[in-house]
Amino acid sequence: MEESLFNSFMNGPDQNGRFGKFGGRFVSETLMPLILDLETEYERAKTDESFWAEMGHLWTHYVGRPSPLYFAERLTEYLDGAKIYMKRDELNHTGAHKINNVLGQILLARRMGKKRIIAETGAGQHGVATATVCARFGLKCIVYMGAHDVERQAPNVFRMKLLGAEVIPVTSGRGTLKDAMNDALRDWVTNVSETFYCIGTVAGPHPYPAMVRDFQAIIGKEVREQIQLAEGDGVLPDTLVAAIGGGSNAMGLFYPFLDDSDVTIIGVEAGGKGVNENMEHCASLTGGRPGVLHGNRTYLLQDQDGQILEGFSISAGLDYPGIGPEHSWLHEIGRAKYVSITDQEALEAFKLCCLQEGIIPALEPSHALAHVLKIAPTLPKEHVIVMNMCGRGDKDIFTVAKALDIDISE
Ligand SMILES: *Cc1c(COP(=O)(O)O)cnc(C)c1O
Repeated sequence: MEESLFNSFMNGPDQNGRFGKFGGRFVSETLMPLILDLETEYERAKTDESFWAEMGHLWTHYVGRPSPLYFAERLTEYLDGAKIYMKRDELNHTGAHKINNVLGQILLARRMGKKRIIAETGAGQHGVATATVCARFGLKCIVYMGAHDVERQAPNVFRMKLLGAEVIPVTSGRGTLKDAMNDALRDWVTNVSETFYCIGTVAGPHPYPAMVRDFQAIIGKEVREQIQLAEGDGVLPDTLVAAIGGGSNAMGLFYPFLDDSDVTIIGVEAGGKGVNENMEHCASLTGGRPGVLHGNRTYLLQDQDGQILEGFSISAGLDYPGIGPEHSWLHEIGRAKYVSITDQEALEAFKLCCLQEGIIPALEPSHALAHVLKIAPTLPKEHVIVMNMCGRGDKDIFTVAKALDIDISE
C-alpha cells in the first residue's frame, strides 16, 4: 500500500484512511457504522457524473465559481521580484472557501436522506456557510460553537440565526473550537439515523480529510487552467502558498499539483506571538508533535503530558490545535514545506494588501501573503507565485483596529 501511495502523491489515503502514519479512524464503536455509511455513499457519489453536475451548477450559479486568478500587478512591482497571482476565493458567496466543501457535504446528506445537519464552528465562518446551504435546501441546521467564541463572534452568530440555524454554545472544556467539535461528535452518536455531520476542514476520521480535500480541490483545478491562460500553454505556477488552520483551503490549492515535482508547495501556519516554548501560537507542524484528536492521528499542539493546548493567533480561523493528517504526511515526506508567520507580520501584509491592491484580505490569507512578501523579492521576475486569497476581511476589521490601536469611531 505504501508503494502505491508513492506512485502518485495523489493516491492517498490508503483504504484505512491513512496517509503514511497519519489519519485513520479513531472513533467509538457506535460511530463506526455511520462513518462506513458515509464512506460508501461518498465513494458512490465520487464517480457519479450527476453528483458533480449538480455541484457544478451550484458552484456556478450560487457560489460564483470559477473565482478569478488575479495578477497582483502593483504588489508585484512594489516587491520587485516574482510575479504574484491571487486566487480570489474571497469572492465566493459567504466570503471564503468554506462553501465549496459545505455544498458537497450537503448534497451528499441529501442523497443519504439525512434531514438534520450538525456542524462545529470556531470563528463562525464554517457555521455561516453551513447555515447558508441548509437554508438553500430547507434542512434543519444545528451549529456547535464554543461559548467563548459565541461571545467573541457575535456578528456571525447573528448571521447563522438569520439563516435559520440553531447555535448551541459549548461550555465544556475551555469553550473553543476543539470542544465544539467534541460535542458535535457526541450529538452524532446520539442522533444516529437522521443526522449528518458536516465537518469544516480536512480533519476528523476517514473519509472526512480526503472528502473535504476533494471538494476543495476545485480551487487548484481552476488555478491549473487559469495560469495557462494567463502565462501560456503548459505553464504551471513555480510556487503555491496558502494559510493553514485545519488545512482545507491549502489542500484544495495544493492537491492537483502534488505530482508536479517542479511546483514548490508552502503551507503557512499561524505563528501568533512567536513559535517558542510559551506556545502562544497555532503552528502544529512547526511547534507540535503527533497524537490523536478528533478521530485521526496528526501533529497537535500539546504539553508534555499530552494535554491538547489551545494555541493562540490573531486570526480566529487559524485557531485550531491540530492540522489535517495529509499535511502531516506531506511534511514528513518533504513534498510540502511548512513555515510560520507571526500576528505582527500578518498585520503588515494585511495593511499592504489594502493599500497596494484595494483588497481587504481576511487575517488568515494575510498570513500566506506575509510569507509571499518575504520570498517574492528574492526570486527572479519570471517566477510565478500563486497565493490563495481564501477569505475577505470584513469580519476582521474590528480585530485589526484593536491590534493597531485605532479608534474607528473617530
Ligand atoms: C476557516 C478559514 C481558514 C482556516 O481553515 P482551513 O481549513 O485551514 O482552510 C482560513 N481562511 C479563512 C478565510 C477561513 O474562513
